[in-house]
Amino acid sequence: MAFEGLTERLQNAFSGLRRKGKINENDIREAMREVRLALLEADVNFDVVKDFVKTVRTQALGKEVLESLTPAQQVIKIVHDELVKVMGEAAVPLNKSPHIPTIIMMVGLQGAGKTTTAGKLANRLKKQEHARPLMIAADVYRPAAVDQLVTVGQQLDVPVFEMGTDHDPVDIVKQGLAEADKNKNDYVIIDTAGRLEIDEQLMDELARIKALAQPNEILLVVDAMTGQVATQVADGFNQQLDVTGVILTKLDGDTRGGAALSIRAVTGKPIKFIGQGEKLDQLDVFYPDRMADRILG
Ligand code: GDP
Repeated sequence: MAFEGLTERLQNAFSGLRRKGKINENDIREAMREVRLALLEADVNFDVVKDFVKTVRTQALGKEVLESLTPAQQVIKIVHDELVKVMGEAAVPLNKSPHIPTIIMMVGLQGAGKTTTAGKLANRLKKQEHARPLMIAADVYRPAAVDQLVTVGQQLDVPVFEMGTDHDPVDIVKQGLAEADKNKNDYVIIDTAGRLEIDEQLMDELARIKALAQPNEILLVVDAMTGQVATQVADGFNQQLDVTGVILTKLDGDTRGGAALSIRAVTGKPIKFIGQGEKLDQLDVFYPDRMADRILG
C-alpha cells in the first residue's frame, strides 16, 4: 500500500508525544528528528525535508503548543498543515482554452504511464463534461505505442488520429490539429514519445511540438514508484519545457511518498491528477489535504 512505511514512522514519532501529558522542547526536537528520518526514508527530496522540518519545528516549539492541553494533537496538526502546503494547498483544475479545442500535450519517460493516462484523461473529460476529445498518436518510436493508443480509443469510443510511425511527429500533430478543427473536437490530447531517460533529441522534438501546438496544458506523467528519480525527472522536463502540471501515476502501488511530497516544492508546478490503477477510470483529481490525511493515516 502507498505510504505505508511513512505513515507508520510518523505515527511512531507522534505516539511518543501522545504518551506524555505535558511535553517539553526536547520531546519536540526528538519527534522532529523522527519526522525527518521518516521523510528521508520515504525518498522525499533532501532540501524539501530540511525546509519542512525547520518550519514545523519552529511552529511546534511555540508557547501555544507547549502550554496547550493537547500538545501532541497540536503538533500533528502543524505537520498535517505543512504537508498540505508542501503539496500545493488546493486542487488545481485543468487550464482551458477560451475557444475550442483545449490542447493538452502529454509528456514523460517511457513506462511512466503516458499513453494509459492520455486515455484516462479523455475518458474523464468525456464522462464529466460530455466532451468530444480527439487523441493524437505522436509517439512514433515505441512501435506498439500507436496501436496501444488506438486500442484505448476504441475501448473509450474516443477517436484517435494516427499516421503510423513513418512521419515526423510534428507533422502528425499538425494534421491531427487540422482534423480536430474539422470535426470541432473540444479537446485534443497529444500522446508524445518517451525515452528511458531524458535526452536532447527527445526534448528537442517535444519543444517543436509545443511550438507548433501551443498547448494549454503540458502535463508531465511521472511514475510515483520511482521516488527521487520522479522528482529529478519532473525537474528536468520542467526546465526544458516549462510544463503546466504533473500527473503522478501508480499511487496504487507501494510507493513511499517521496514524489508526491517533493514535486511541487522542487518544480513549483502542481500535481493535477493521480493515477491509481491500470483501468481507464482510475484517474483522480489530486487534493493535497486528502493526500496529507492519507499520509498521516
Ligand atoms: P508510457 O510508456 O508512458 O506510455 O506508459 P504506458 O501507458 O504504456 O504504461 C506503462 C504501464 O504502466 C502499463 O502496464 C500501464 O497499465 C501501467 N500504468 C499506468 N498508470 C498506472 C497506474 O496508475 N497504476 C498502475 N498500477 N499501473 C499503471
